[in-house]
Amino acid sequence: MSDYQHRARKRFGQNFLHDAGVIHRILRAIHAREGEHMLEIGPGQGALTEGLLNSGAQLDVIELDRDLVPILQHQFGNNPRFRLNQGDALKFDFNQLQAAPHSLRVVGNLPYNISTPLIFHLLSNAALIRDMHFMLQKEVVERLAAEPGGGDWGRLSIMVQYHCRVEHLFNVGPGAFNPPPKVDSAIVRLVPHEVLPHPAKDHHLLERVVREAFNQRRKTLRNTLKNLLPAAAIEAAGVDGSLRPEQLDLAAFVRLADKLAEQPNAD
Ligand code: SAM
Repeated sequence: MSDYQHRARKRFGQNFLHDAGVIHRILRAIHAREGEHMLEIGPGQGALTEGLLNSGAQLDVIELDRDLVPILQHQFGNNPRFRLNQGDALKFDFNQLQAAPHSLRVVGNLPYNISTPLIFHLLSNAALIRDMHFMLQKEVVERLAAEPGGGDWGRLSIMVQYHCRVEHLFNVGPGAFNPPPKVDSAIVRLVPHEVLPHPAKDHHLLERVVREAFNQRRKTLRNTLKNLLPAAAIEAAGVDGSLRPEQLDLAAFVRLADKLAEQPNAD
């Protein structure tokens, strides 16, 4: 450990893990192995980093806070399998890691304010990724892993489940962190599909239909989608227009998006 005492910064979403039992449980769930290519986002003071490196894996880390760079270099810089990238993970070009297709294993106890945009940024590179393990706000994990029919099922669930299999692994209380966050957390595993189970003709149209449908989740689909799809097109997609968006599964949203692709002026 370095002599330097780092004060956690709120603006970087810094809640450092300090519970050895929780750290061990996360590392066991990730189960990094020799020869694998890991990417840790926001290593902080290295709570997970050490165990990841001890597995024998190759480890890239991306850390935004410049003040943490000397601490991380001091602890891990001598290890030839460790590579530190200082910068914003939201702007990071993952192609520069030169990972083989479906090989990159991504890990992070993420700052909660960037978790959703970061997941989408990673999913735009899904072909590089083998799996992802994240610590997130528990409510976000519940939305990611939700099933149709309930209040958690929405845009985030659908757009992430389009690309990935999602597993809510376990919950972590605030006491595992320093300083403790105000919310409960959970560990989620996301595994990008090698072959999409419900491919849409145009992914952007799926985003559009889902966004429009959930803008007013209490209304019927016939109502919320009226600017995009006539009632007859909704029925032709095999969807009951009198349902609410939360009652539809991913496959039904993909059928609606594919119907939209057939409409004149759809783009
Ligand atoms: N992994 C450490 C742990 O578990 O103790 C730290 C977790 S802390 C919740 C989040 C970390 O992400 C902090 O080190 C913070 O500086 C870093 N961070 C915040 N925003 C970031 C960004 N946009 N890109 C990369 N790292 C970021």
